[in-house]
Amino acid sequence: MMILRSIAEMQAAALAWRRAGRRIGLVPTMGYLHAGHLSLVALARPDCDVVVVSIFVNPTQFGPQEDLAKYPRDFERDAACCREAGVDAIFAPEPGDMYAADFSTWVTEERLSQPLCGARRPGHFRGVVTVVAKLFNAVLPDVAVFGQKDAQQCLVLQRLVRDLNFPVTLRIGPIWREADGLAMSSRNVYLSSDERQRALAISRGVRVAEAAFAAGERSGVVLCARVHDAITAGGGRPDYVELRSRHDLRELTAASEPAVLAVAAFFGVTRLLDNSFLG
Ligand code: AMP
Repeated sequence: MMILRSIAEMQAAALAWRRAGRRIGLVPTMGYLHAGHLSLVALARPDCDVVVVSIFVNPTQFGPQEDLAKYPRDFERDAACCREAGVDAIFAPEPGDMYAADFSTWVTEERLSQPLCGARRPGHFRGVVTVVAKLFNAVLPDVAVFGQKDAQQCLVLQRLVRDLNFPVTLRIGPIWREADGLAMSSRNVYLSSDERQRALAISRGVRVAEAAFAAGERSGVVLCARVHDAITAGGGRPDYVELRSRHDLRELTAASEPAVLAVAAFFGVTRLLDNSFLG
């Protein structure tokens, strides 16, 4: 497995692969890998000759009061996971290589980035969209794989690819969960054992809403209340629970078209995401 530490090295390798007619798959991550990340590698594998995992804790997608400094990092463990998963190369650039001191060019998506996490984390999607555009220019992928866990991010990045004509096919992998239902996340390590237990309320609430939907419930107010109530009963603080169109993220009063029930909630100081596609 190759470990590429600079954009120049990465682009040179990617150009050589492309000239040799090899298809490149990219799985962008912020590291501290778990089975959810590795499931995305498996989705790239079948039709890519080379699978690259990028590991970069992207400073520009964190707000000033957020967890950039304490975001969990363990490169040796991540490299071992990637090796075991048959990854061909890790791209792990330094922040200074990605962002020159006088960096001043941003890529912004101006519609789908507005609600949900965009409203709670100003500047977050500007950082995400910019870094993904930069990763595409460094890795030159044919396929890039993202997780439904970050459903809004997936929609925003599909819009990026369409609007700026990146020659990349996006693929979306399902949410991987711990055995007890908690959506896997690098941030789960922040939870105390008590918070970890109580945080199950999120996936429990989502499952209750899914069951209500399966039984015919379509009201956005009712479906969101199921999740909201479960989270508050578990001692958590919902940041948002919203029913939105899976097409354009507009708020829905009823799940009468393909919808996403999108959830963010705090347990202690840790903010966790979950969601479900309804219909
Ligand atoms: P992150 O390292 O948290 O930035 O995530 C990197 C990629 O992995 C993103 O496309 C995420 O949506 C995806 N991902 C994170 N958690 C999960 C999960 N539990 N299941 C599937 N994909 C995930």
